[in-house]
Amino acid sequence: MTQKQRYQFVLDYFKKNNPLAETELDYISPYQLLVSVILSAQCTDKRVNATTPAIFEKYETVVLLSKTTFKKLFPLIKSISYPNNKTKHLIAMAKMVVQKFNGIIPMTVDELVQLPGVGRKTANVITSVIDQQPNMAVDTHVFRVSKRLGLVKDSANTPFAVEKELVKNIPVELIHTAHHWLILHGRYTCVARKPKCTDCVFRTVCKFYKSNQII
Ligand code: SF4
Repeated sequence: MTQKQRYQFVLDYFKKNNPLAETELDYISPYQLLVSVILSAQCTDKRVNATTPAIFEKYETVVLLSKTTFKKLFPLIKSISYPNNKTKHLIAMAKMVVQKFNGIIPMTVDELVQLPGVGRKTANVITSVIDQQPNMAVDTHVFRVSKRLGLVKDSANTPFAVEKELVKNIPVELIHTAHHWLILHGRYTCVARKPKCTDCVFRTVCKFYKSNQII
């Protein structure tokens, strides 16, 4: 099977069976999504969604968030992983959005990565989810699934290398949705420790399955 055929098989399946895949984070604005994605590092979307309503009730806008203090914000975040750093990052992020971007969440990767707590992955999520830009955020699920399926070369050993290969091979209009397809497949089927290969529709094309590395 060629690389092109593998992509075709995987993308055709997702297009047919989950055409409207989207993030599992709850949000109603770019500000809310940015806060949620920053909080979601090393944390489940479920826990983030349980935490953010109280934050957004108290801090409806990025301007209000920029005026708060560590002491006031921390109690709302303490049930999430790395609460100290995330509290500091959220306040610093909000201050920079207000001071440098006139209170508007920027919508380019180059601008977003200037914000505290925002790396390339987060910037790709924000721009692809909010603005449907063809940017592929590579988190642990996307990385693992892409490698196992054989969508990227064995030599692609960094998130950025995987991102570049996926973006090169996935049709531009599908990239922002493909990000969610790969995440959801990794979250619910191709899980890290014991992938559920017997339930997986990609067995016939999966490099990892074919190479008998399943234990
Ligand atoms: S066959 Fe197994 S390893 Fe391959 S994508 Fe499916 S769950 Fe993952």
